[in-house]
Amino acid sequence: MPISASSARTATRSLSVDEALERILAKVRQLEPVTADLMDTLGMTLVEDIVADHDVPPFRNSAMDGYAVIGADVATVPARLRVVGDIAAGGVPARPITRGEAIRIMTGAPMPDGADTIVRVEDTDNGTSTVTIHAATRPGTSVRAAGEDLRTGETVLTRGTILRAAEIGVLATLGHKTVQVTRQPRVAVLSTGDELVELDAPLGPGQIRDANRYSLASAARAVGARAIPLGIVRDTVDDLRRALRDAASKADIIVTSGGVSVGDHDHVKPVVDELGSMDFWSIAIRPGRPLAFGAIDGTLIFGLPGNPVSSLLGFELFVRPALLKMAGRRLLHRPQVAATLDDTLDTPPGLRFFARGIYDPAAGTVRTTGPQGSGILRSMALANCFIDIPDTVQHVDRGGRVIVIRTDQPEDH
Ligand code: AMP
Ligand code: MG
Repeated sequence: MPISASSARTATRSLSVDEALERILAKVRQLEPVTADLMDTLGMTLVEDIVADHDVPPFRNSAMDGYAVIGADVATVPARLRVVGDIAAGGVPARPITRGEAIRIMTGAPMPDGADTIVRVEDTDNGTSTVTIHAATRPGTSVRAAGEDLRTGETVLTRGTILRAAEIGVLATLGHKTVQVTRQPRVAVLSTGDELVELDAPLGPGQIRDANRYSLASAARAVGARAIPLGIVRDTVDDLRRALRDAASKADIIVTSGGVSVGDHDHVKPVVDELGSMDFWSIAIRPGRPLAFGAIDGTLIFGLPGNPVSSLLGFELFVRPALLKMAGRRLLHRPQVAATLDDTLDTPPGLRFFARGIYDPAAGTVRTTGPQGSGILRSMALANCFIDIPDTVQHVDRGGRVIVIRTDQPEDH
Protein backbone atom coordinates (compact mmCIF):
# COMPACT_ATOMS: atom_id res chain seq x y z
CA MET A 1 0.00 0.00 0.00
CA PRO A 2 1.76 3.22 -1.04
CA ILE A 3 1.83 5.92 1.58
CA SER A 4 0.77 9.25 0.16
CA ALA A 5 2.84 12.28 1.07
CA SER A 6 0.01 14.77 1.33
CA SER A 7 -0.29 16.71 4.54
CA ALA A 8 -3.35 16.24 6.62
CA ARG A 9 -5.97 18.62 7.90
CA THR A 10 -7.90 16.37 10.17
CA ALA A 11 -10.46 18.72 11.58
CA THR A 12 -12.07 19.60 8.31
CA ARG A 13 -11.99 16.38 6.33
CA SER A 14 -11.57 12.68 6.55
CA LEU A 15 -8.12 11.20 6.39
CA SER A 16 -7.33 8.70 3.73
CA VAL A 17 -6.31 5.21 4.83
CA ASP A 18 -2.76 5.91 3.68
CA GLU A 19 -2.54 9.18 5.59
CA ALA A 20 -3.86 7.57 8.76
CA LEU A 21 -1.38 4.72 8.48
CA GLU A 22 1.47 7.11 7.80
CA ARG A 23 0.64 9.06 10.97
CA ILE A 24 0.35 5.90 13.01
CA LEU A 25 3.63 4.43 11.81
CA ALA A 26 5.38 7.75 12.51
CA LYS A 27 4.55 7.19 16.19
CA VAL A 28 5.63 3.55 16.35
CA ARG A 29 9.12 2.53 17.43
CA GLN A 30 10.76 -0.86 17.35
CA LEU A 31 10.71 -2.39 20.83
CA GLU A 32 13.90 -3.03 22.79
CA PRO A 33 15.98 -6.20 22.50
CA VAL A 34 15.45 -9.01 24.99
CA THR A 35 17.04 -12.39 25.56
CA ALA A 36 14.54 -15.08 24.65
CA ASP A 37 14.52 -18.86 24.85
CA LEU A 38 15.14 -20.10 21.34
CA MET A 39 11.99 -22.23 21.52
CA ASP A 40 9.87 -19.08 21.91
CA THR A 41 11.31 -17.03 19.06
CA LEU A 42 9.26 -18.11 16.06
CA GLY A 43 8.44 -15.03 13.99
CA MET A 44 10.60 -12.72 16.08
CA THR A 45 13.30 -10.40 14.74
CA LEU A 46 16.89 -11.31 15.51
CA VAL A 47 18.85 -8.31 16.77
CA GLU A 48 22.34 -9.78 16.79
CA ASP A 49 24.62 -11.18 14.12
CA ILE A 50 25.25 -14.88 14.59
CA VAL A 51 28.77 -16.12 13.85
CA ALA A 52 29.44 -19.85 13.75
CA ASP A 53 31.89 -20.73 16.53
CA HIS A 54 32.38 -24.21 15.15
CA ASP A 55 31.95 -26.12 11.93
CA VAL A 56 28.60 -27.70 11.10
CA PRO A 57 28.72 -30.59 10.70
CA PRO A 58 31.55 -30.72 13.23
CA PHE A 59 33.12 -33.82 11.64
CA ARG A 60 33.30 -35.58 8.29
CA ASN A 61 30.43 -38.07 8.18
CA SER A 62 28.42 -40.44 6.07
CA ALA A 63 25.39 -39.21 4.13
CA MET A 64 24.08 -42.76 3.64
CA ASP A 65 23.69 -46.11 5.32
CA GLY A 66 26.35 -48.28 3.65
CA TYR A 67 30.08 -48.98 3.72
CA ALA A 68 32.97 -46.60 4.22
CA VAL A 69 35.62 -47.56 1.66
CA ILE A 70 38.61 -46.29 -0.26
CA GLY A 71 37.40 -44.97 -3.62
CA ALA A 72 40.17 -46.69 -5.57
CA ASP A 73 38.85 -50.06 -4.29
CA VAL A 74 35.38 -49.56 -5.79
CA ALA A 75 36.21 -47.97 -9.13
CA THR A 76 35.63 -51.28 -10.88
CA VAL A 77 32.97 -53.76 -9.85
CA PRO A 78 32.14 -56.24 -8.63
CA ALA A 79 34.59 -55.57 -5.79
CA ARG A 80 34.93 -57.71 -2.69
CA LEU A 81 36.11 -56.04 0.54
CA ARG A 82 36.77 -57.25 4.06
CA VAL A 83 34.37 -55.71 6.64
CA VAL A 84 36.50 -54.65 9.63
CA GLY A 85 34.02 -52.73 11.75
CA ASP A 86 30.62 -51.17 12.22
CA ILE A 87 29.79 -47.56 13.20
CA ALA A 88 26.38 -46.15 14.06
CA ALA A 89 25.47 -42.45 14.35
CA GLY A 90 26.87 -41.26 17.67
CA GLY A 91 29.68 -43.86 17.53
CA VAL A 92 33.33 -43.31 16.77
CA PRO A 93 35.45 -45.37 14.36
CA ALA A 94 37.59 -47.92 16.23
CA ARG A 95 40.34 -47.89 13.60
CA PRO A 96 41.27 -46.52 10.18
CA ILE A 97 40.86 -48.59 7.03
CA THR A 98 43.42 -49.58 4.47
CA ARG A 99 43.16 -50.93 0.90
CA GLY A 100 40.77 -53.88 0.59
CA GLU A 101 38.84 -52.99 3.75
CA ALA A 102 35.39 -51.56 4.45
CA ILE A 103 33.53 -50.46 7.58
CA ARG A 104 29.75 -50.70 7.83
CA ILE A 105 28.50 -47.21 8.57
CA MET A 106 25.17 -45.52 9.25
CA THR A 107 24.02 -42.06 8.18
CA GLY A 108 25.57 -39.35 10.35
CA ALA A 109 28.36 -41.56 11.73
CA PRO A 110 31.92 -40.17 11.55
CA MET A 111 34.04 -41.31 8.59
CA PRO A 112 36.91 -43.60 9.61
CA ASP A 113 40.37 -42.30 8.76
CA GLY A 114 41.53 -43.64 5.43
CA ALA A 115 38.02 -43.87 3.98
CA ASP A 116 37.00 -41.28 1.37
CA THR A 117 33.86 -42.81 -0.13
CA ILE A 118 30.54 -44.29 0.95
CA VAL A 119 28.94 -47.11 -1.01
CA ARG A 120 25.19 -47.22 -0.40
CA VAL A 121 23.93 -50.43 1.18
CA GLU A 122 21.59 -50.79 -1.82
CA ASP A 123 24.67 -51.16 -4.06
CA THR A 124 26.05 -54.08 -2.05
CA ASP A 125 25.13 -57.57 -0.86
CA ASN A 126 24.85 -56.14 2.68
CA GLY A 127 27.57 -58.55 3.88
CA THR A 128 28.90 -58.55 7.45
CA SER A 129 32.31 -60.25 7.20
CA THR A 130 32.93 -59.53 3.55
CA VAL A 131 30.91 -57.27 1.29
CA THR A 132 30.46 -57.40 -2.47
CA ILE A 133 29.92 -54.08 -4.19
CA HIS A 134 27.84 -54.11 -7.37
CA ALA A 135 27.86 -50.47 -8.44
CA ALA A 136 31.00 -48.56 -9.28
CA THR A 137 31.16 -45.58 -6.93
CA ARG A 138 33.21 -42.45 -7.55
CA PRO A 139 35.67 -41.35 -4.83
CA GLY A 140 34.08 -38.84 -2.44
CA THR A 141 30.52 -40.09 -2.99
CA SER A 142 28.08 -39.60 -0.08
CA VAL A 143 30.65 -38.07 2.25
CA ARG A 144 29.66 -34.89 4.07
CA ALA A 145 32.62 -32.62 4.73
CA ALA A 146 33.07 -30.97 8.13
CA GLY A 147 31.79 -27.38 7.81
CA GLU A 148 29.89 -28.00 4.58
CA ASP A 149 26.83 -26.36 6.14
CA LEU A 150 28.35 -23.67 8.40
CA ARG A 151 32.03 -22.73 8.70
CA THR A 152 33.74 -21.52 11.85
CA GLY A 153 33.94 -17.71 11.79
CA GLU A 154 31.26 -17.29 9.16
CA THR A 155 28.34 -14.90 9.84
CA VAL A 156 25.39 -17.19 9.27
CA LEU A 157 22.48 -14.96 10.32
CA THR A 158 22.37 -11.19 10.44
CA ARG A 159 20.45 -8.83 12.69
CA GLY A 160 17.04 -8.05 11.30
CA THR A 161 16.42 -11.63 10.21
CA ILE A 162 12.92 -12.91 10.92
CA LEU A 163 13.22 -16.22 12.69
CA ARG A 164 11.39 -18.95 10.84
CA ALA A 165 11.67 -22.67 11.45
CA ALA A 166 14.88 -22.98 9.39
CA GLU A 167 16.68 -20.07 11.08
CA ILE A 168 15.70 -21.44 14.48
CA GLY A 169 17.17 -24.78 13.42
CA VAL A 170 20.43 -23.07 12.44
CA LEU A 171 20.58 -21.37 15.84
CA ALA A 172 19.90 -24.67 17.57
CA THR A 173 22.63 -26.45 15.63
CA LEU A 174 25.07 -23.80 16.82
CA GLY A 175 23.96 -24.29 20.42
CA HIS A 176 22.16 -20.98 20.99
CA LYS A 177 19.72 -21.88 23.76
CA THR A 178 18.79 -18.20 23.98
CA VAL A 179 19.01 -15.37 21.42
CA GLN A 180 18.66 -11.60 21.33
CA VAL A 181 15.39 -10.66 19.67
CA THR A 182 13.06 -7.68 19.60
CA ARG A 183 10.63 -7.97 22.46
CA GLN A 184 7.21 -9.33 21.61
CA PRO A 185 4.59 -6.54 21.62
CA ARG A 186 1.89 -6.77 24.30
CA VAL A 187 -1.60 -5.85 23.21
CA ALA A 188 -4.32 -5.12 25.75
CA VAL A 189 -7.75 -5.77 24.30
CA LEU A 190 -10.90 -4.35 25.80
CA SER A 191 -14.47 -4.23 24.66
CA THR A 192 -16.70 -1.34 25.58
CA GLY A 193 -20.46 -1.53 25.64
CA ASP A 194 -23.33 -1.89 28.11
CA GLU A 195 -24.94 -4.38 25.75
CA LEU A 196 -22.05 -6.86 25.93
CA VAL A 197 -22.08 -10.04 27.97
CA GLU A 198 -19.62 -12.88 28.51
CA LEU A 199 -19.85 -15.90 26.25
CA ASP A 200 -21.33 -18.17 28.88
CA ALA A 201 -23.95 -15.70 30.10
CA PRO A 202 -27.55 -16.04 28.95
CA LEU A 203 -28.55 -13.32 26.52
CA GLY A 204 -30.96 -10.91 28.17
CA PRO A 205 -33.06 -8.41 26.25
CA GLY A 206 -30.90 -6.05 24.22
CA GLN A 207 -27.73 -7.97 24.95
CA ILE A 208 -25.14 -9.50 22.64
CA ARG A 209 -21.99 -11.49 23.27
CA ASP A 210 -18.58 -9.88 23.22
CA ALA A 211 -17.20 -11.09 19.91
CA ASN A 212 -14.55 -8.40 19.46
CA ARG A 213 -12.43 -9.31 22.46
CA TYR A 214 -11.92 -12.75 20.97
CA SER A 215 -11.44 -11.70 17.37
CA LEU A 216 -9.11 -8.80 18.18
CA ALA A 217 -7.01 -10.78 20.68
CA SER A 218 -6.68 -13.48 18.05
CA ALA A 219 -5.71 -10.95 15.40
CA ALA A 220 -2.98 -9.76 17.77
CA ARG A 221 -1.76 -13.30 18.33
CA ALA A 222 -1.80 -13.97 14.61
CA VAL A 223 0.78 -11.22 14.15
CA GLY A 224 3.02 -12.62 16.89
CA ALA A 225 1.96 -10.25 19.66
CA ARG A 226 1.03 -11.27 23.18
CA ALA A 227 -2.66 -10.55 23.70
CA ILE A 228 -3.84 -9.42 27.10
CA PRO A 229 -7.64 -9.69 27.04
CA LEU A 230 -9.00 -7.36 29.69
CA GLY A 231 -12.70 -7.99 29.44
CA ILE A 232 -15.79 -5.89 29.02
CA VAL A 233 -15.88 -2.27 30.11
CA ARG A 234 -19.19 -0.59 30.85
CA ASP A 235 -20.09 2.63 29.08
CA THR A 236 -19.25 4.89 32.01
CA VAL A 237 -16.42 7.34 32.31
CA ASP A 238 -15.28 5.82 35.61
CA ASP A 239 -15.11 2.26 34.34
CA LEU A 240 -13.34 3.28 31.19
CA ARG A 241 -10.84 5.43 33.08
CA ARG A 242 -9.99 2.57 35.40
CA ALA A 243 -9.72 0.03 32.58
CA LEU A 244 -7.54 2.21 30.38
CA ARG A 245 -5.15 3.07 33.22
CA ASP A 246 -4.79 -0.61 33.96
CA ALA A 247 -4.31 -1.45 30.28
CA ALA A 248 -1.69 1.28 29.81
CA SER A 249 0.35 -0.18 32.67
CA LYS A 250 0.36 -3.63 31.07
CA ALA A 251 0.70 -3.18 27.33
CA ASP A 252 2.54 -1.52 24.47
CA ILE A 253 -0.69 -1.09 22.53
CA ILE A 254 -4.26 -0.87 23.76
CA VAL A 255 -6.99 -1.87 21.37
CA THR A 256 -10.52 -0.96 22.36
CA SER A 257 -13.66 -1.61 20.41
CA GLY A 258 -16.85 0.40 20.54
CA GLY A 259 -17.59 3.77 22.02
CA VAL A 260 -15.72 5.87 19.47
CA SER A 261 -18.71 7.25 17.61
CA VAL A 262 -20.55 10.39 18.58
CA GLY A 263 -23.30 8.72 20.61
CA ASP A 264 -24.23 9.74 24.14
CA HIS A 265 -22.37 6.78 25.59
CA ASP A 266 -19.20 6.98 23.52
CA HIS A 267 -16.58 7.87 26.12
CA VAL A 268 -13.33 6.57 24.67
CA LYS A 269 -12.12 9.82 23.19
CA PRO A 270 -12.79 12.11 26.21
CA VAL A 271 -11.30 9.60 28.66
CA VAL A 272 -8.14 9.13 26.62
CA ASP A 273 -7.89 12.90 26.26
CA GLU A 274 -7.99 13.14 30.03
CA LEU A 275 -5.43 10.36 30.65
CA GLY A 276 -3.17 11.05 27.70
CA SER A 277 -3.74 12.45 24.28
CA MET A 278 -6.12 11.34 21.60
CA ASP A 279 -6.50 12.13 17.94
CA PHE A 280 -9.88 11.33 16.63
CA TRP A 281 -10.00 10.68 12.97
CA SER A 282 -12.68 10.16 10.51
CA ILE A 283 -11.19 7.96 7.87
CA ALA A 284 -12.64 7.89 4.38
CA ILE A 285 -13.26 4.19 4.55
CA ARG A 286 -16.11 1.74 4.77
CA PRO A 287 -16.57 -0.13 6.92
CA GLY A 288 -14.97 1.44 9.96
CA ARG A 289 -14.96 5.17 9.48
CA PRO A 290 -14.18 6.40 13.01
CA LEU A 291 -10.76 5.62 14.43
CA ALA A 292 -9.37 7.06 17.61
CA PHE A 293 -5.60 6.99 17.93
CA GLY A 294 -3.50 8.30 20.75
CA ALA A 295 -1.30 7.46 23.69
CA ILE A 296 -1.50 7.06 27.45
CA ASP A 297 1.86 7.13 29.24
CA GLY A 298 3.70 5.96 26.14
CA THR A 299 1.24 3.18 25.40
CA LEU A 300 -0.42 3.64 22.02
CA ILE A 301 -4.15 3.28 21.91
CA PHE A 302 -6.36 2.39 18.98
CA GLY A 303 -10.04 3.01 19.54
CA LEU A 304 -11.70 0.86 16.93
CA PRO A 305 -15.40 0.97 16.12
CA GLY A 306 -17.65 -1.61 17.74
CA ASN A 307 -19.07 -3.25 14.67
CA PRO A 308 -17.26 -6.57 14.45
CA VAL A 309 -16.28 -6.22 10.79
CA SER A 310 -15.18 -2.62 11.25
CA SER A 311 -13.00 -3.43 14.23
CA LEU A 312 -11.28 -6.35 12.55
CA LEU A 313 -10.73 -4.39 9.36
CA GLY A 314 -9.34 -1.50 11.42
CA PHE A 315 -7.01 -3.93 13.14
CA GLU A 316 -5.83 -5.35 9.84
CA LEU A 317 -5.23 -1.97 8.21
CA PHE A 318 -3.80 0.00 11.13
CA VAL A 319 -2.93 -2.08 14.19
CA ARG A 320 -1.28 -4.99 12.41
CA PRO A 321 1.33 -2.87 10.56
CA ALA A 322 2.03 -1.00 13.82
CA LEU A 323 2.65 -4.28 15.65
CA LEU A 324 4.87 -5.53 12.86
CA LYS A 325 6.95 -2.36 13.02
CA MET A 326 7.19 -2.65 16.81
CA ALA A 327 8.42 -6.20 16.39
CA GLY A 328 11.19 -5.03 14.07
CA ARG A 329 9.68 -6.12 10.79
CA ARG A 330 10.45 -4.18 7.66
CA LEU A 331 7.71 -5.64 5.50
CA LEU A 332 4.46 -4.14 6.70
CA HIS A 333 2.00 -4.67 3.88
CA ARG A 334 0.13 -7.68 2.64
CA PRO A 335 0.60 -8.71 -0.96
CA GLN A 336 -1.78 -7.14 -3.46
CA VAL A 337 -2.80 -8.64 -6.75
CA ALA A 338 -5.08 -7.58 -9.58
CA ALA A 339 -8.06 -9.87 -10.09
CA THR A 340 -11.16 -10.09 -12.23
CA LEU A 341 -14.37 -9.47 -10.34
CA ASP A 342 -16.72 -12.43 -10.60
CA ASP A 343 -19.56 -10.38 -9.13
CA THR A 344 -20.86 -6.84 -9.30
CA LEU A 345 -20.10 -4.27 -6.63
CA ASP A 346 -21.75 -1.01 -5.67
CA THR A 347 -19.72 1.04 -3.26
CA PRO A 348 -20.28 4.33 -1.45
CA PRO A 349 -19.09 7.57 -3.05
CA GLY A 350 -16.05 9.26 -1.53
CA LEU A 351 -15.09 6.29 0.64
CA ARG A 352 -12.51 3.60 0.04
CA PHE A 353 -14.43 0.38 0.29
CA PHE A 354 -13.03 -2.88 1.55
CA ALA A 355 -15.28 -5.72 0.50
CA ARG A 356 -14.60 -9.12 1.97
CA GLY A 357 -13.72 -11.44 -0.86
CA ILE A 358 -12.84 -14.95 -1.88
CA TYR A 359 -9.90 -14.85 -4.25
CA ASP A 360 -9.20 -17.80 -6.50
CA PRO A 361 -5.49 -17.64 -7.36
CA ALA A 362 -5.76 -20.27 -10.10
CA ALA A 363 -8.51 -18.45 -11.96
CA GLY A 364 -7.35 -14.94 -11.05
CA THR A 365 -10.90 -14.10 -10.02
CA VAL A 366 -12.50 -12.77 -6.87
CA ARG A 367 -16.06 -12.61 -5.60
CA THR A 368 -17.56 -11.12 -2.48
CA THR A 369 -18.54 -13.24 0.48
CA GLY A 370 -22.17 -12.14 0.25
CA PRO A 371 -23.89 -9.45 2.34
CA GLN A 372 -21.30 -6.88 3.34
CA GLY A 373 -22.85 -5.06 6.33
CA SER A 374 -20.39 -4.00 9.02
CA GLY A 375 -22.20 -6.19 11.53
CA ILE A 376 -22.05 -9.27 9.32
CA LEU A 377 -18.98 -10.95 10.73
CA ARG A 378 -19.52 -14.02 8.61
CA SER A 379 -18.51 -11.90 5.63
CA MET A 380 -15.05 -11.85 7.22
CA ALA A 381 -15.03 -15.49 8.29
CA LEU A 382 -15.64 -16.61 4.71
CA ALA A 383 -13.02 -14.28 3.23
CA ASN A 384 -9.40 -14.81 2.25
CA CYS A 385 -8.90 -11.25 1.02
CA PHE A 386 -10.20 -7.72 0.88
CA ILE A 387 -11.35 -6.26 -2.40
CA ASP A 388 -9.98 -2.73 -2.25
CA ILE A 389 -12.20 -0.31 -4.16
CA PRO A 390 -10.91 3.28 -4.48
CA ASP A 391 -13.06 6.17 -3.25
CA THR A 392 -13.44 7.39 -6.82
CA VAL A 393 -15.20 4.22 -7.97
CA GLN A 394 -18.83 3.53 -7.18
CA HIS A 395 -19.60 0.57 -9.33
CA VAL A 396 -17.65 -2.38 -10.72
CA ASP A 397 -19.22 -4.68 -13.28
CA ARG A 398 -18.65 -8.39 -13.50
CA GLY A 399 -15.39 -8.85 -15.39
CA GLY A 400 -13.96 -5.56 -14.08
CA ARG A 401 -10.42 -5.46 -12.73
CA VAL A 402 -10.00 -4.90 -9.00
CA ILE A 403 -7.18 -4.91 -6.48
CA VAL A 404 -7.21 -7.68 -3.94
CA ILE A 405 -5.33 -7.55 -0.61
CA ARG A 406 -4.38 -11.08 0.27
CA THR A 407 -4.99 -11.42 3.98
CA ASP A 408 -4.15 -15.13 3.70
CA GLN A 409 -0.54 -14.26 2.81
CA PRO A 410 2.25 -12.77 4.92
CA GLU A 411 3.47 -9.24 4.36
CA ASP A 412 5.70 -8.88 1.31
CA HIS A 413 6.58 -5.22 0.84
P1 AMP B 1 -20.32 1.27 18.96
O1 AMP B 1 -19.12 1.46 18.13
O2 AMP B 1 -20.02 1.18 20.42
O3 AMP B 1 -21.36 2.31 18.65
O4 AMP B 1 -20.93 -0.13 18.53
C1 AMP B 1 -21.32 -0.36 17.21
C2 AMP B 1 -22.00 -1.70 17.07
O5 AMP B 1 -21.08 -2.73 17.37
C3 AMP B 1 -23.16 -1.91 18.02
O6 AMP B 1 -24.16 -2.63 17.33
C4 AMP B 1 -22.56 -2.74 19.12
O7 AMP B 1 -23.51 -3.51 19.81
C5 AMP B 1 -21.59 -3.60 18.37
N1 AMP B 1 -20.51 -4.03 19.24
C6 AMP B 1 -19.77 -3.23 20.03
N2 AMP B 1 -18.85 -3.92 20.70
C7 AMP B 1 -19.00 -5.21 20.33
C8 AMP B 1 -18.33 -6.41 20.70
N3 AMP B 1 -17.34 -6.41 21.58
N4 AMP B 1 -18.73 -7.56 20.11
C9 AMP B 1 -19.74 -7.56 19.22
N5 AMP B 1 -20.39 -6.45 18.83
C10 AMP B 1 -20.05 -5.27 19.38
MG1 MG C 1 -20.99 1.11 22.16
